[in-house]
Amino acid sequence: MFLRRRTNIKNRPAMHRIVFAFLTLEQHRRAIESSCASYRPDRCPHCGSGCLWCHGCYGRKADRSADGELNPVPVARFRCPSCTRTCSRLPLCICPRRWYGWSLQQKVLQLLIAGASLRRTATVFALGYHTVRRWWRSLVAAHGTFAFHLCSRFAELGRSADRDDFWLVCLHRMPLCEAMAWLDHDGIAVP
Ligand SMILES: [Zn+2]
Repeated sequence: MFLRRRTNIKNRPAMHRIVFAFLTLEQHRRAIESSCASYRPDRCPHCGSGCLWCHGCYGRKADRSADGELNPVPVARFRCPSCTRTCSRLPLCICPRRWYGWSLQQKVLQLLIAGASLRRTATVFALGYHTVRRWWRSLVAAHGTFAFHLCSRFAELGRSADRDDFWLVCLHRMPLCEAMAWLDHDGIAVP
């Protein structure tokens, strides 16, 4: 089997993918329409070079409302003149790899931490049981990495007694979207 040689830096997840702004799709759309420059990264996540060019937008599903009228939501893309690779940037209201928004995921996690069962939580939020279970298992699996990086930035989180306590304190301090944006900023792959 032919394996393409890749440098380590290219194997790293794209850093700084999430921009620390725009909590709603409406805010995001207005920002994109006025100027995609508000999304421009300072440097290329692949080679570190500066001066990235706006490279249009691609559309993705992100509006889970009944009519989904904001879909497809434009996502800003940038091109690096040095390495010619592209990168995209997301607002706080869009998850990189999940269609559901962070705020709903946060409510689900908080109810689970409060002791509700997976099935009960799925019913409360009208979600599939397997979706809720996948989110929970994903958080449990990533907890060690997430906690390590968040604690190195927010020392007070290190005083948490256990995993559930950590997320209670963390989500009291900042919304899930912000915690995930900080992890993304540190080069950690987030859902
Ligand atoms: Zn580059």
